[in-house]
Amino acid sequence: MMLSYWEQDLFKPKYDYLIIGSGFSGLWMAYLLKMKKPNAHIGILEKGTLPSGASTKNAGFACFGSPSELLENVKTIGWDKTLELTEKRYQGIQLIKAHFGTEIDYNPCGATELFSEEGFFKENLEQLDLLNQNLRDIVNAESHFKEDKNIILNSNFRGFENAISNAAEASIHSGKLFYALYKKLVSLDVKFFFGTEVEHIETESAIAEVKTKNLGDFQAQHVCICTNAFTNTFLPSQNIKPGRGQVLITQPIENLPFNSTFHFEKGYFYFKNVGKRVLFGGGRNLDIAGETTTAEGTTELIQNQLIKYLKENILPDTNFEIATIWSGVMAFNESHTPISEILKPNLSANVCMNGMGVALAPFLAEELVGRMG
Ligand SMILES: Cc1cc2nc3c(=O)[nH]c(=O)nc-3n(C[C@H](O)[C@H](O)[C@H](O)COP(=O)(O)OP(=O)(O)OC[C@H]3O[C@@H](n4cnc5c(N)ncnc54)[C@H](O)[C@@H]3O)c2cc1C
Repeated sequence: MMLSYWEQDLFKPKYDYLIIGSGFSGLWMAYLLKMKKPNAHIGILEKGTLPSGASTKNAGFACFGSPSELLENVKTIGWDKTLELTEKRYQGIQLIKAHFGTEIDYNPCGATELFSEEGFFKENLEQLDLLNQNLRDIVNAESHFKEDKNIILNSNFRGFENAISNAAEASIHSGKLFYALYKKLVSLDVKFFFGTEVEHIETESAIAEVKTKNLGDFQAQHVCICTNAFTNTFLPSQNIKPGRGQVLITQPIENLPFNSTFHFEKGYFYFKNVGKRVLFGGGRNLDIAGETTTAEGTTELIQNQLIKYLKENILPDTNFEIATIWSGVMAFNESHTPISEILKPNLSANVCMNGMGVALAPFLAEELVGRMG
Protein backbone atom coordinates (compact mmCIF):
# COMPACT_ATOMS: atom_id res chain seq x y z
CA MET A 1 0.00 0.00 0.00
CA MET A 2 1.29 3.47 -0.90
CA LEU A 3 1.20 5.67 2.22
CA SER A 4 0.59 9.43 2.08
CA TYR A 5 2.72 11.86 4.03
CA TRP A 6 -0.10 12.21 6.56
CA GLU A 7 -0.33 8.46 7.06
CA GLN A 8 3.41 8.08 7.37
CA ASP A 9 3.63 10.95 9.83
CA LEU A 10 0.81 9.61 11.97
CA PHE A 11 1.28 5.86 11.78
CA LYS A 12 4.96 5.29 11.08
CA PRO A 13 6.90 6.98 13.86
CA LYS A 14 9.65 4.97 15.51
CA TYR A 15 7.58 3.14 18.11
CA ASP A 16 8.78 2.47 21.63
CA TYR A 17 6.90 -0.82 21.60
CA LEU A 18 5.33 -2.77 18.77
CA ILE A 19 3.14 -5.66 19.79
CA ILE A 20 2.31 -8.42 17.33
CA GLY A 21 -1.13 -9.91 17.92
CA SER A 22 -4.27 -8.29 19.34
CA GLY A 23 -5.45 -11.21 21.49
CA PHE A 24 -5.58 -10.89 25.26
CA SER A 25 -1.79 -11.33 25.60
CA GLY A 26 -1.03 -8.44 23.25
CA LEU A 27 -3.76 -6.20 24.62
CA TRP A 28 -2.77 -6.73 28.26
CA MET A 29 0.89 -6.12 27.34
CA ALA A 30 -0.04 -2.79 25.72
CA TYR A 31 -2.37 -1.82 28.57
CA LEU A 32 0.11 -2.59 31.36
CA LEU A 33 2.98 -0.95 29.45
CA LYS A 34 0.84 2.19 29.15
CA MET A 35 0.04 2.06 32.86
CA LYS A 36 3.76 1.95 33.60
CA LYS A 37 4.96 4.33 30.87
CA PRO A 38 2.10 6.65 29.88
CA ASN A 39 4.19 8.47 27.26
CA ALA A 40 5.35 5.34 25.42
CA HIS A 41 4.40 5.13 21.72
CA ILE A 42 2.80 1.74 21.26
CA GLY A 43 1.43 0.08 18.14
CA ILE A 44 -0.39 -3.25 17.78
CA LEU A 45 -0.11 -5.18 14.50
CA GLU A 46 -2.86 -7.76 13.95
CA LYS A 47 -3.13 -9.97 10.89
CA GLY A 48 -6.89 -10.41 11.09
CA THR A 49 -9.61 -7.83 10.49
CA LEU A 50 -10.52 -8.85 14.04
CA PRO A 51 -8.35 -10.83 16.49
CA SER A 52 -8.06 -14.21 14.76
CA GLY A 53 -6.74 -16.70 17.27
CA ALA A 54 -8.39 -17.64 20.55
CA SER A 55 -9.28 -14.56 22.56
CA THR A 56 -12.63 -13.66 21.00
CA LYS A 57 -13.40 -17.24 19.95
CA ASN A 58 -13.17 -18.90 23.34
CA ALA A 59 -15.75 -19.94 25.90
CA GLY A 60 -15.19 -17.08 28.33
CA PHE A 61 -14.31 -19.07 31.43
CA ALA A 62 -12.13 -17.11 33.85
CA CYS A 63 -10.72 -20.37 35.14
CA PHE A 64 -7.59 -21.74 36.73
CA GLY A 65 -8.17 -25.48 36.53
CA SER A 66 -10.63 -28.23 37.42
CA PRO A 67 -9.45 -30.92 39.88
CA SER A 68 -8.80 -33.54 37.20
CA GLU A 69 -6.94 -31.03 34.99
CA LEU A 70 -4.72 -29.95 37.88
CA LEU A 71 -4.05 -33.52 39.00
CA GLU A 72 -3.23 -34.43 35.39
CA ASN A 73 -0.78 -31.51 35.32
CA VAL A 74 0.82 -32.75 38.53
CA LYS A 75 1.53 -36.08 36.78
CA THR A 76 3.30 -34.38 33.87
CA ILE A 77 5.00 -31.31 35.36
CA GLY A 78 4.94 -31.98 39.12
CA TRP A 79 3.37 -30.15 42.06
CA ASP A 80 5.64 -27.07 42.11
CA LYS A 81 5.10 -26.10 38.49
CA THR A 82 1.37 -26.92 38.65
CA LEU A 83 0.87 -24.74 41.72
CA GLU A 84 2.96 -21.93 40.25
CA LEU A 85 0.79 -21.87 37.11
CA THR A 86 -2.41 -22.16 39.14
CA GLU A 87 -1.40 -19.18 41.27
CA LYS A 88 -0.65 -17.13 38.15
CA ARG A 89 -4.06 -17.94 36.70
CA TYR A 90 -5.76 -17.15 40.01
CA GLN A 91 -3.97 -13.79 40.21
CA GLY A 92 -4.86 -13.15 36.56
CA ILE A 93 -8.56 -13.47 37.39
CA GLN A 94 -8.11 -10.87 40.14
CA LEU A 95 -6.50 -8.51 37.60
CA ILE A 96 -9.38 -8.95 35.13
CA LYS A 97 -11.88 -8.29 37.89
CA ALA A 98 -10.04 -5.24 39.23
CA HIS A 99 -9.50 -3.53 35.85
CA PHE A 100 -12.55 -4.48 33.75
CA GLY A 101 -14.91 -6.42 36.05
CA THR A 102 -17.80 -4.02 35.55
CA GLU A 103 -17.72 -4.04 31.73
CA ILE A 104 -17.51 -7.70 30.76
CA ASP A 105 -20.59 -9.46 32.24
CA TYR A 106 -18.32 -10.82 34.97
CA ASN A 107 -20.34 -13.51 36.76
CA PRO A 108 -18.65 -14.96 39.87
CA CYS A 109 -20.69 -18.13 39.47
CA GLY A 110 -17.91 -20.62 40.29
CA ALA A 111 -17.25 -23.78 38.31
CA THR A 112 -18.10 -27.46 38.54
CA GLU A 113 -16.38 -30.54 37.21
CA LEU A 114 -18.90 -33.25 36.34
CA PHE A 115 -18.08 -36.96 36.45
CA SER A 116 -19.82 -39.77 34.60
CA GLU A 117 -17.45 -42.56 35.69
CA GLU A 118 -17.51 -43.57 39.34
CA GLY A 119 -13.91 -44.85 39.29
CA PHE A 120 -12.50 -41.65 37.85
CA PHE A 121 -14.51 -39.57 40.33
CA LYS A 122 -13.16 -41.60 43.28
CA GLU A 123 -9.61 -41.23 41.99
CA ASN A 124 -10.04 -37.45 42.08
CA LEU A 125 -11.95 -37.41 45.37
CA GLU A 126 -9.17 -39.35 47.10
CA GLN A 127 -6.71 -36.61 46.22
CA LEU A 128 -9.00 -33.68 46.92
CA ASP A 129 -7.75 -33.01 50.48
CA LEU A 130 -4.16 -32.92 49.26
CA LEU A 131 -5.13 -30.64 46.37
CA ASN A 132 -7.04 -28.32 48.71
CA GLN A 133 -4.14 -28.19 51.18
CA ASN A 134 -1.77 -27.22 48.40
CA LEU A 135 -4.16 -24.59 47.03
CA ARG A 136 -5.08 -23.11 50.43
CA ASP A 137 -2.60 -20.23 50.38
CA ILE A 138 -3.19 -19.53 46.69
CA VAL A 139 -6.96 -19.11 46.84
CA ASN A 140 -7.22 -18.12 50.53
CA ALA A 141 -9.75 -20.85 51.28
CA GLU A 142 -9.52 -23.98 53.40
CA SER A 143 -11.48 -26.14 50.95
CA HIS A 144 -11.38 -24.72 47.47
CA PHE A 145 -12.85 -27.83 45.82
CA LYS A 146 -15.92 -29.43 47.38
CA GLU A 147 -17.98 -32.44 46.43
CA ASP A 148 -21.35 -31.09 45.25
CA LYS A 149 -24.35 -33.41 44.97
CA ASN A 150 -26.97 -30.66 44.79
CA ILE A 151 -25.79 -29.15 41.55
CA ILE A 152 -26.49 -32.38 39.69
CA LEU A 153 -29.96 -32.79 41.17
CA ASN A 154 -30.90 -29.13 40.60
CA SER A 155 -29.59 -28.94 37.04
CA ASN A 156 -31.47 -31.93 35.58
CA PHE A 157 -28.29 -33.40 34.11
CA ARG A 158 -28.35 -37.05 33.09
CA GLY A 159 -25.41 -39.46 33.17
CA PHE A 160 -23.32 -37.30 35.48
CA GLU A 161 -23.49 -38.90 38.89
CA ASN A 162 -20.90 -36.82 40.75
CA ALA A 163 -19.57 -33.28 40.84
CA ILE A 164 -16.82 -31.21 42.43
CA SER A 165 -17.37 -27.45 42.59
CA ASN A 166 -15.33 -24.38 43.42
CA ALA A 167 -16.50 -20.84 44.10
CA ALA A 168 -13.48 -18.92 42.81
CA GLU A 169 -13.87 -19.20 39.04
CA ALA A 170 -16.09 -16.97 36.94
CA SER A 171 -17.75 -16.48 33.60
CA ILE A 172 -17.04 -13.51 31.34
CA HIS A 173 -18.05 -12.16 27.93
CA SER A 174 -14.79 -12.51 25.98
CA GLY A 175 -15.92 -10.12 23.25
CA LYS A 176 -16.62 -7.45 25.84
CA LEU A 177 -13.21 -7.97 27.48
CA PHE A 178 -11.55 -7.52 24.08
CA TYR A 179 -13.61 -4.40 23.44
CA ALA A 180 -13.02 -2.92 26.90
CA LEU A 181 -9.25 -3.31 26.43
CA TYR A 182 -9.43 -1.99 22.86
CA LYS A 183 -11.42 1.12 23.84
CA LYS A 184 -9.10 1.82 26.74
CA LEU A 185 -6.00 1.46 24.55
CA VAL A 186 -7.41 3.72 21.81
CA SER A 187 -8.15 6.32 24.49
CA LEU A 188 -4.51 6.02 25.59
CA ASP A 189 -3.36 6.65 22.00
CA VAL A 190 -2.21 3.11 21.25
CA LYS A 191 -2.33 2.65 17.45
CA PHE A 192 -4.08 -0.45 16.06
CA PHE A 193 -3.30 -1.92 12.63
CA PHE A 194 -5.80 -4.66 11.79
CA GLY A 195 -5.31 -6.69 8.62
CA THR A 196 -1.55 -6.26 8.98
CA GLU A 197 0.34 -9.53 9.00
CA VAL A 198 3.92 -9.49 10.25
CA GLU A 199 6.18 -11.63 8.08
CA HIS A 200 9.56 -11.07 9.67
CA ILE A 201 11.22 -9.36 12.62
CA GLU A 202 14.81 -8.16 12.24
CA THR A 203 16.49 -7.68 15.61
CA GLU A 204 20.21 -7.52 14.74
CA SER A 205 20.39 -3.72 15.11
CA ALA A 206 19.39 -1.90 18.30
CA ILE A 207 16.20 -0.69 16.59
CA ALA A 208 14.06 -3.65 15.52
CA GLU A 209 12.57 -3.74 12.01
CA VAL A 210 9.17 -5.33 11.57
CA LYS A 211 8.27 -6.33 8.03
CA THR A 212 4.57 -6.55 7.24
CA LYS A 213 2.82 -8.10 4.26
CA ASN A 214 0.85 -5.05 3.16
CA LEU A 215 1.94 -2.01 5.17
CA GLY A 216 5.70 -1.98 4.64
CA ASP A 217 8.25 -1.83 7.46
CA PHE A 218 7.81 -0.55 11.00
CA GLN A 219 10.56 0.32 13.48
CA ALA A 220 10.55 -0.08 17.24
CA GLN A 221 12.83 0.01 20.25
CA HIS A 222 11.19 -3.20 21.38
CA VAL A 223 8.93 -5.80 19.77
CA CYS A 224 6.75 -8.17 21.76
CA ILE A 225 5.51 -11.32 20.04
CA CYS A 226 1.99 -12.18 21.26
CA THR A 227 0.94 -14.58 18.52
CA ASN A 228 0.15 -17.70 20.60
CA ALA A 229 -0.66 -20.57 18.19
CA PHE A 230 0.98 -18.77 15.25
CA THR A 231 4.35 -18.24 16.92
CA ASN A 232 6.34 -20.81 14.91
CA THR A 233 6.81 -18.16 12.19
CA PHE A 234 8.99 -16.19 14.60
CA LEU A 235 10.24 -18.75 17.15
CA PRO A 236 10.29 -22.13 15.36
CA SER A 237 12.60 -23.74 17.93
CA GLN A 238 9.90 -23.42 20.62
CA ASN A 239 7.89 -26.09 18.79
CA ILE A 240 4.49 -24.70 19.76
CA LYS A 241 1.60 -26.81 18.50
CA PRO A 242 -1.80 -25.35 17.58
CA GLY A 243 -4.95 -26.93 18.98
CA ARG A 244 -8.28 -25.97 17.47
CA GLY A 245 -11.30 -25.67 19.73
CA GLN A 246 -14.86 -25.91 18.39
CA VAL A 247 -17.81 -24.22 20.06
CA LEU A 248 -21.57 -23.94 19.63
CA ILE A 249 -24.25 -21.81 21.25
CA THR A 250 -27.98 -22.50 21.41
CA GLN A 251 -30.90 -20.19 20.87
CA PRO A 252 -32.39 -18.94 24.18
CA ILE A 253 -34.02 -21.67 26.27
CA GLU A 254 -36.74 -20.87 28.79
CA ASN A 255 -36.27 -21.99 32.40
CA LEU A 256 -32.67 -23.07 32.02
CA PRO A 257 -31.93 -24.84 35.32
CA PHE A 258 -28.33 -23.65 35.79
CA ASN A 259 -26.33 -20.43 35.96
CA SER A 260 -22.70 -21.51 36.11
CA THR A 261 -19.72 -22.96 34.27
CA PHE A 262 -19.04 -26.70 33.93
CA HIS A 263 -16.27 -28.98 32.68
CA PHE A 264 -16.01 -32.71 32.12
CA GLU A 265 -13.59 -35.29 30.68
CA LYS A 266 -10.49 -33.59 32.15
CA GLY A 267 -11.55 -30.21 30.80
CA TYR A 268 -11.84 -31.43 27.19
CA PHE A 269 -15.55 -30.49 27.26
CA TYR A 270 -16.93 -27.31 28.81
CA PHE A 271 -20.28 -25.55 28.92
CA LYS A 272 -22.02 -22.65 30.60
CA ASN A 273 -25.09 -20.52 30.21
CA VAL A 274 -24.88 -17.16 28.46
CA GLY A 275 -28.10 -15.61 29.71
CA LYS A 276 -30.74 -18.09 28.52
CA ARG A 277 -28.43 -19.77 26.00
CA VAL A 278 -26.07 -22.70 26.49
CA LEU A 279 -22.53 -22.34 25.14
CA PHE A 280 -20.81 -25.71 24.72
CA GLY A 281 -17.34 -26.44 23.38
CA GLY A 282 -14.48 -28.87 23.27
CA GLY A 283 -14.00 -32.38 21.96
CA ARG A 284 -10.49 -31.83 20.63
CA ASN A 285 -9.57 -35.16 22.23
CA LEU A 286 -11.81 -36.96 19.70
CA ASP A 287 -9.40 -36.09 16.89
CA ILE A 288 -6.15 -34.70 18.26
CA ALA A 289 -4.32 -35.04 14.93
CA GLY A 290 -7.10 -33.37 12.92
CA GLU A 291 -7.46 -30.54 15.43
CA THR A 292 -3.71 -29.82 15.51
CA THR A 293 -4.25 -27.04 13.02
CA THR A 294 -4.40 -23.25 12.78
CA ALA A 295 -7.15 -23.52 10.16
CA GLU A 296 -10.55 -22.10 11.00
CA GLY A 297 -13.35 -24.68 10.72
CA THR A 298 -15.68 -27.15 12.36
CA THR A 299 -16.09 -30.88 11.79
CA GLU A 300 -19.12 -33.15 11.81
CA LEU A 301 -17.37 -35.57 14.16
CA ILE A 302 -16.97 -33.02 16.93
CA GLN A 303 -20.14 -30.99 16.36
CA ASN A 304 -22.24 -34.20 16.38
CA GLN A 305 -20.68 -35.27 19.67
CA LEU A 306 -21.37 -31.85 21.20
CA ILE A 307 -25.02 -32.09 20.13
CA LYS A 308 -25.26 -35.67 21.44
CA TYR A 309 -24.01 -34.59 24.86
CA LEU A 310 -26.43 -31.67 24.86
CA LYS A 311 -29.40 -33.91 23.99
CA GLU A 312 -28.57 -36.83 26.23
CA ASN A 313 -26.70 -35.39 29.21
CA ILE A 314 -26.89 -31.62 29.55
CA LEU A 315 -30.36 -30.71 28.29
CA PRO A 316 -32.28 -34.03 28.31
CA ASP A 317 -36.00 -33.60 27.61
CA THR A 318 -35.45 -29.99 26.49
CA ASN A 319 -36.02 -28.73 22.98
CA PHE A 320 -33.18 -26.54 21.76
CA GLU A 321 -31.84 -25.12 18.52
CA ILE A 322 -28.26 -24.32 17.65
CA ALA A 323 -27.77 -20.63 16.87
CA THR A 324 -24.11 -20.52 15.81
CA ILE A 325 -21.01 -22.68 15.62
CA TRP A 326 -17.39 -21.50 15.36
CA SER A 327 -13.77 -22.37 16.10
CA GLY A 328 -10.67 -20.77 17.58
CA VAL A 329 -7.04 -21.81 17.91
CA MET A 330 -5.09 -22.44 21.12
CA ALA A 331 -1.35 -23.07 21.58
CA PHE A 332 0.28 -25.97 23.41
CA ASN A 333 3.78 -27.15 24.22
CA GLU A 334 5.15 -30.28 25.85
CA SER A 335 6.04 -28.55 29.12
CA HIS A 336 2.48 -27.11 29.50
CA THR A 337 4.26 -23.88 30.38
CA PRO A 338 3.78 -20.52 28.67
CA ILE A 339 6.76 -18.69 27.20
CA SER A 340 6.89 -15.22 28.70
CA GLU A 341 10.43 -13.94 28.31
CA ILE A 342 12.66 -11.10 27.30
CA LEU A 343 14.61 -12.77 24.48
CA LYS A 344 16.86 -9.84 23.51
CA PRO A 345 17.06 -6.18 24.55
CA ASN A 346 14.70 -5.40 21.64
CA LEU A 347 12.55 -8.56 21.60
CA SER A 348 10.24 -10.40 23.97
CA ALA A 349 7.50 -13.01 23.74
CA ASN A 350 4.33 -13.69 25.68
CA VAL A 351 2.96 -16.80 24.01
CA CYS A 352 1.74 -20.39 24.35
CA MET A 353 -1.06 -20.10 26.89
CA ASN A 354 -1.77 -23.86 26.81
CA GLY A 355 -5.53 -23.39 26.48
CA MET A 356 -6.08 -21.30 29.62
CA GLY A 357 -4.96 -17.82 28.63
CA VAL A 358 -7.96 -15.75 29.69
CA ALA A 359 -6.58 -15.67 33.23
CA LEU A 360 -2.89 -16.24 32.42
CA ALA A 361 -2.46 -13.46 29.87
CA PRO A 362 -2.93 -10.52 32.27
CA PHE A 363 -0.70 -12.00 34.95
CA LEU A 364 2.11 -12.90 32.55
CA ALA A 365 1.88 -9.48 30.91
CA GLU A 366 2.18 -7.82 34.31
CA GLU A 367 5.24 -9.92 35.17
CA LEU A 368 6.89 -9.29 31.80
CA VAL A 369 6.24 -5.55 31.87
CA GLY A 370 7.71 -5.52 35.39
CA ARG A 371 10.90 -7.16 34.08
CA MET A 372 11.21 -4.69 31.20
CA GLY A 373 12.58 -2.00 33.51
C1 LIG B 1 -12.63 -22.65 21.72
C2 LIG B 1 -11.74 -22.11 22.77
C3 LIG B 1 -12.18 -22.07 24.08
C4 LIG B 1 -11.36 -21.54 25.06
N1 LIG B 1 -11.86 -21.37 26.31
C5 LIG B 1 -11.09 -20.79 27.25
C6 LIG B 1 -11.61 -20.52 28.51
O1 LIG B 1 -12.80 -20.69 28.72
N2 LIG B 1 -10.77 -20.03 29.48
C7 LIG B 1 -9.45 -19.78 29.21
O2 LIG B 1 -8.71 -19.36 30.12
N3 LIG B 1 -8.96 -19.96 28.00
C8 LIG B 1 -9.74 -20.45 27.02
N4 LIG B 1 -9.24 -20.63 25.78
C9 LIG B 1 -7.86 -20.23 25.53
C10 LIG B 1 -7.71 -18.71 25.53
O3 LIG B 1 -8.72 -18.13 24.72
C11 LIG B 1 -6.32 -18.38 24.99
O4 LIG B 1 -5.35 -19.01 25.80
C12 LIG B 1 -6.04 -16.89 24.98
O5 LIG B 1 -7.11 -16.17 24.41
C13 LIG B 1 -4.76 -16.64 24.22
O6 LIG B 1 -4.60 -15.25 24.02
P1 LIG B 1 -3.39 -14.78 23.13
O7 LIG B 1 -3.52 -13.31 23.00
O8 LIG B 1 -2.14 -15.34 23.67
O9 LIG B 1 -3.62 -15.48 21.73
P2 LIG B 1 -4.70 -15.17 20.58
O10 LIG B 1 -5.98 -14.72 21.13
O11 LIG B 1 -4.71 -16.35 19.69
O12 LIG B 1 -4.06 -13.91 19.83
C14 LIG B 1 -2.97 -14.03 18.97
C15 LIG B 1 -3.22 -13.02 17.86
O13 LIG B 1 -2.04 -12.91 17.05
C16 LIG B 1 -2.46 -12.68 15.72
N5 LIG B 1 -1.35 -13.03 14.84
C17 LIG B 1 -0.82 -14.26 14.66
N6 LIG B 1 0.20 -14.21 13.79
C18 LIG B 1 0.32 -12.92 13.40
C19 LIG B 1 1.19 -12.24 12.50
N7 LIG B 1 2.16 -12.88 11.84
N8 LIG B 1 1.05 -10.90 12.34
C20 LIG B 1 0.09 -10.22 13.03
N9 LIG B 1 -0.79 -10.82 13.88
C21 LIG B 1 -0.66 -12.16 14.07
C22 LIG B 1 -3.67 -13.60 15.57
O14 LIG B 1 -4.48 -13.24 14.49
C23 LIG B 1 -4.35 -13.44 16.92
O15 LIG B 1 -5.36 -12.46 16.90
C24 LIG B 1 -10.05 -21.12 24.76
C25 LIG B 1 -9.62 -21.12 23.44
C26 LIG B 1 -10.46 -21.61 22.44
C27 LIG B 1 -10.00 -21.60 21.02
